[in-house]
Amino acid sequence: MTTTRQGLFAIMHSDSTDRAVIVTPDDPRYPDLTSGTNQRFVGKPEMIRLITSTEDAVAAVRDAFAAGKRVSLRSGGHCVEDFVYNPEVEVVLDLSQLDEIAFDADRQAFMVSSGALLLNVYERLYRHWGVTIPGGICYSVGVGGHVCGGGYGMLSRTLGLTVDHLYAVEVVHVAADGEVAAVVATREPDDPHRDLWWAHTGGGGGNFGVVTRYWFRTPGRGGTDPSKLLVAPPSRVLLGQCAVPWDQLTEADFDRLVANYGAWNEANSRPGSRGAELSSILVLNHRASGPVALLSQVDAALPDAAGLLRGFLSDVFEGTALAGSPQVLDAVEELAWLQATRHVTTVIGNQPIPSVRGITKSAYLRRGFTSDQRTALYRNLTRPDTHSPGAIVMLMPFGGRINAVGSDETASAQRDSVMKMRIENWWVDPRTDDANMAWGRDIFTQLFARTGGAPVPDDSTDGCYVNYADSDMLDPRLNRSGVPWSTLYYKDNYDRLRRVKTHWDPHNFFRHRMSIEPLPPSPGGQFGASRIPS
Ligand SMILES: Cc1cc2nc3c(=O)[nH]c(=O)nc-3n(C[C@H](O)[C@H](O)[C@H](O)COP(=O)(O)OP(=O)(O)OC[C@H]3O[C@@H](n4cnc5c(N)ncnc54)[C@H](O)[C@@H]3O)c2cc1C
Repeated sequence: MTTTRQGLFAIMHSDSTDRAVIVTPDDPRYPDLTSGTNQRFVGKPEMIRLITSTEDAVAAVRDAFAAGKRVSLRSGGHCVEDFVYNPEVEVVLDLSQLDEIAFDADRQAFMVSSGALLLNVYERLYRHWGVTIPGGICYSVGVGGHVCGGGYGMLSRTLGLTVDHLYAVEVVHVAADGEVAAVVATREPDDPHRDLWWAHTGGGGGNFGVVTRYWFRTPGRGGTDPSKLLVAPPSRVLLGQCAVPWDQLTEADFDRLVANYGAWNEANSRPGSRGAELSSILVLNHRASGPVALLSQVDAALPDAAGLLRGFLSDVFEGTALAGSPQVLDAVEELAWLQATRHVTTVIGNQPIPSVRGITKSAYLRRGFTSDQRTALYRNLTRPDTHSPGAIVMLMPFGGRINAVGSDETASAQRDSVMKMRIENWWVDPRTDDANMAWGRDIFTQLFARTGGAPVPDDSTDGCYVNYADSDMLDPRLNRSGVPWSTLYYKDNYDRLRRVKTHWDPHNFFRHRMSIEPLPPSPGGQFGASRIPS
């Protein structure tokens, strides 16, 4: 390991110097390490410390804490907010080089280090052991931030959220007395640190400490054969991909398509139902950004898999000009699962423009959209004043195995929605920031006008997804619902998350503008209770 620059605050006196990889503003690597996917957020830290091991993470946190530095954590760099790169951050702890993926025979679980990227995880787990985790759709999302936020992807309807398979997590934290240590917390009922594991099943990144490693084993699995310890993906899938140019769609067609998609997911999301075997994404590009596209996937080995997929496509396009069209029904191919995943994660789930700036908003949907909401969607997706290359509303089915888990079993509280919506806008020119952000805000505000501009937990909606964090929900001018952001993201799990936060990060050393708030100090001025009542 090298130290690229000597003489940095506490590092000078630290016994960890020989292990540290440090990049400072005069280093040629600095520009690459001060931003992630979203170029709206560029940091100016005094240093980036590239973490090379758990011990190195402990040393890095110890140094930064002793020097009173404000830190942030990066793994895959896909944060959709400024939690990693913002002007207040003085030291970025970058875990991108910590990317080991291995079977841990002692824990009988698959160990994945935080810097591993999703497609590398899928390839390694599958090629070596025939197993997988049901994670996200973009190949370059990092495990570090993704998993602790829940982790959702094309296999989640059949296999659950990624955290439903999380066995353990290693976290480097700062205790009340300032001691820095690495702790492994498991889901074992008698583990005294179980609450820390639980907090990493949906609490989101940057809250409790530095996650260095995760371990995965599906609940109820045992024995010594690694291939039986974690869920397996299908060997082959049927992948449907149809794209409908906007000039083939009338407003009535669009309305019918979105209504049909909502109705299908309402009727087909029950855990264990045949319809829940099918996953899909309805990609509603703005007409300047691309066509309306529907991606769908089903295990090719299911009885009459082709019939299930064809039935879905027929139902979704029923009553539109494309009903029964080969353009819709025949755009299906059978692929090995990993081939399909490589394609979906690099071509569809990926954001390919390097200088891209973006905004993301999200909502869990318990119902399909109403007529007024569909009108708002159409109006905004056809607005002539939007020209960005990536103005998109994505609808994805939820339900299936995800909804077989209780709301408080993990920190991912939303367990009875039928769809998840993601609004994105991606653009390049900083001068158009305001206009492009306004597009995302307008559509969101109009969709949820009935409830003050936020998808509050009620009969129709169920809050927002922590991995698609949206700081607009902190702003009372944009979130006029009266429901705090913390309820939108965590619902009734927030109080428990605060207790875990107070115990494991009593100094609030790990924080960003939407991090979990510690409880106020007790009357005696003490923080960090020794035991966490759950
Ligand atoms: C193009 C794109 C596609 C996406 N697709 C999906 C998807 O299909 N499914 C889905 O569920 N999500 C998806 N996401 C959201 C993604 O899961 C989150 O943005 C996730 O937090 C990214 O993790 P990261 O490590 O890549 O990001 P980073 O920017 O490195 O970190 C994100 C957050 O996690 C914290 N963090 C990072 N590393 C650590 C660590 N080691 N320990 C503790 N905290 C840490 C950071 O402080 C930050 O708050 C997508 C995002 C993008 C930009």
